[in-house]
Amino acid sequence: MGEGGCAHHGGFAVSRRELLLGEMGVLPMHPRSQPLVEERIPEPSSPVVEAKMGWDELKSSAEACTACPLHQGRNRVVVGVGNERADWLFIGEAPGAEEDLKGEPFVGQAGKLLDNMLSSIGLSRKVVYIANTVKCRPPGNRNPEPSEMAACRHYLLRQIELVEPKLIVILGRVAAQSVLETDATISSLRGRFHCFGDIPVLVTYHPAYLLRNTSDKAKAWADLCLARRKMAELSG
Ligand code: SF4
Repeated sequence: MGEGGCAHHGGFAVSRRELLLGEMGVLPMHPRSQPLVEERIPEPSSPVVEAKMGWDELKSSAEACTACPLHQGRNRVVVGVGNERADWLFIGEAPGAEEDLKGEPFVGQAGKLLDNMLSSIGLSRKVVYIANTVKCRPPGNRNPEPSEMAACRHYLLRQIELVEPKLIVILGRVAAQSVLETDATISSLRGRFHCFGDIPVLVTYHPAYLLRNTSDKAKAWADLCLARRKMAELSG
């Protein structure tokens, strides 16, 4: 297994990465090599996705969806953004106020930090695909309820099928607990790989959390390096 790019620094890429790390608020660092230990947990007991929707059908279905109470307060349904056949799939929890107005996940300050996090490992939101566990904004930016995530889960499952990512990165506790069907804490979930079917899954902190808890940005950077090493391994 290669060590990914985290331990490899050279030329312009170093300067650029360090600049981006600075924007993330993380000092350039050389995280220790970590064994890529996969913890295989049981595949989530997914509801049967009866309708094999294509992207257009999925989007129009979500836009008309009234399957949970979140439809009552939404302005826009936020399905996802990015490359619909991406190697990388990032999953957050729910649209916030700005996302609800724009119809795109991760805009605003948390979105800018996510963009910087992506850039720090050579990615952008045009290259990856970004989705949420629910497609409509919870009122007052509260966490989505388990019942709401369950009602919306078939959309996310179909998105995973359509994107066919090599790697999933879950952003934050709420999304991690929902996707992986666990009540484990984020600190116990991050730092190693889980499986969603055949797809390796890494859990890291939500950018909005990192804005409030800047001391954990270094851990998020280490997670991203781990993810990049895994992707290099998967693509090699
Ligand atoms: S959050 Fe999902 S299940 Fe609930 S109304 Fe919106 S699209 Fe439908």
